Amino acid sequence: MEVGGIIGLFTLLGFVAWRLVRGVSTVGQALGVLALVTVGYFVTDFISGFVHWAGDSLGSETMPVLGAHFVKPFRFHHVDQKDITRHDFIETNGNNCFISIGPAVGGALIPLDEAVGVFAATAIFSVTLWVLFTNQFHKWSHLDRPPRWVIVLQRLNLVLPPDHHAVHHTAPYAKYYCITVGWLNEPLYRVRFFQALEWIITSTTGLVPREDDIGARAARAILEEPSAPRRAEHRAPEPEV
Ligand SMILES: [Zn+2]
Ligand SMILES: [Zn+2]
Repeated sequence: MEVGGIIGLFTLLGFVAWRLVRGVSTVGQALGVLALVTVGYFVTDFISGFVHWAGDSLGSETMPVLGAHFVKPFRFHHVDQKDITRHDFIETNGNNCFISIGPAVGGALIPLDEAVGVFAATAIFSVTLWVLFTNQFHKWSHLDRPPRWVIVLQRLNLVLPPDHHAVHHTAPYAKYYCITVGWLNEPLYRVRFFQALEWIITSTTGLVPREDDIGARAARAILEEPSAPRRAEHRAPEPEV
């Protein structure tokens, strides 16, 4: 399934990219496509943070289906953050490719006769493309010795930098959830976006996020953190070039 997902998604994205290149006829449209691909990077960063937050904070590892396949992998990553570096390309990217095939098929079928079609196809292409690369960027941030060109991208903040992601890997793992590039981590942290979501969940349902993972007292302490968040200052060692 994972190999099929990877081959299927790369084929579909190649097809959508080819259609877009053929369908874009003016410089203005080309710039619009490039702008949308960039916006898609922000959107995917947010999606990665939201999904990661849900896996870290909600539900439990014993839930049917989602417990084993969604909650447990996120929480196990806190216990052994180097495990991801032992995954090959297929294990790293297979799942994300598989879940992205549906939207990519939709993007491939959209007619490009009108500007709205180009807009929709580009938006789907962009988010699908970056979702595809999210686990890879996350894995790179955990490598002891990433390739030099990856280090360059990390230092330019064009993919998830390891020192930035190390902030999330500091107990209680309750901030900096975005793992595509991390551009939204600081803004979401400053406005207490995920804390507000957790407050809403607790006040409407009585459930306390992370309660089953770290215990009721610790979970409530995170929820009730009174002060405005400060920028985390944890810095991991610089990777050797
Ligand atoms: Zn996490
Ligand atoms: Zn990580």
